Amino acid sequence: MSGKVLLIHTGGTIGMQKLAEGYQPISGFQALLRSRLDHSHHAQLPDFDYLELDTLIDSANLEPAHWNQIAEKVIGNYQDYVGFVILHGTDTMSFSASALSFMLQGLGKPVIITGSQIPLSELRSDALDNLITALLLAGFYPINEVCIYFSGRLLRGNRSSKMKATGLDAFDSPNFPWLGQVGLHVELHERLFLPKQTEQFSNPDFNEGAVAVLPIYPGMSAEMAGAICNTASTKALILQSYGVGNLPDKNSGLMTALQAAADNGTLIVNISRCPQAHVFQGQYACSQVLNDMGVIAGEDMTLEATFCKLHYLIATENDTSVIKDKLASNLVGEIDKATYS
Ligand code: ASP
Repeated sequence: MSGKVLLIHTGGTIGMQKLAEGYQPISGFQALLRSRLDHSHHAQLPDFDYLELDTLIDSANLEPAHWNQIAEKVIGNYQDYVGFVILHGTDTMSFSASALSFMLQGLGKPVIITGSQIPLSELRSDALDNLITALLLAGFYPINEVCIYFSGRLLRGNRSSKMKATGLDAFDSPNFPWLGQVGLHVELHERLFLPKQTEQFSNPDFNEGAVAVLPIYPGMSAEMAGAICNTASTKALILQSYGVGNLPDKNSGLMTALQAAADNGTLIVNISRCPQAHVFQGQYACSQVLNDMGVIAGEDMTLEATFCKLHYLIATENDTSVIKDKLASNLVGEIDKATYS
């Protein structure tokens, strides 16, 4: 396969400079990038065109509407490129990777998201290595899904999480094997790749306040539980429980708040606070109450994938029973059912 790659810059450390207030994204990154690549065997790279979001962001400022801006650039240019590289800040990279995986279902080309922990403009940067390999993966490899490439790892986007704030190997895929690793050789595990399916792209209007997250902790007050569970805009609540999906069922304030949310039609999904986990609701007596409330077990999904899947389903489906079915089903490799009980 040969052809051009589209590089879409959204912001993030990779293109930042240190100003008086701290690191900030600045436009004009393309010139720096091309000058750096000229020194690194440009001829072996795929040709690429470059686009920036109208406003570059520190990805800490990411909102669901940014997913629309990124998806629009991929969908609008889909026929003209063999693959896409998205430069993104690391803080919310896994959220965007997850969101885009649902929005770009049935992809027939690679969408590789990368960034860096140290800006390209700095001496000891990890940017060039991440960027060059991302371009190669997008230009020359048969990948049909949204991935993160970072520090030698190719990860399914909706299985990824940022695990390290300062380590250069910032991302991992706690509940799913890496799709590949890049060291001396590019080793891809093609048996793990998503098969090519019919394109089902959608770029829906997201309802910003629709999804809330409730991390369980010892001694949560009834007031706090009520405030998070029962806001007017919340359509879905992610419960981040202990271990295999356990929660303090003796905390009556919490239980009352959850029951009220369930009675109001709020979709509740139970995932674990442990990054490496699979939820078994009802394995312990303390979580049986969640089955009685109709809470959906999020199995082994990451917080990022659960959050973005809920946003996507709420934005694209009207029927709650369809949303519930799809939440528990595997749409784009984001979830596995437990194979033991
Ligand atoms: N705050 C930055 C961002 O997410 C961090 C990074 O890119 O590494 O945009």
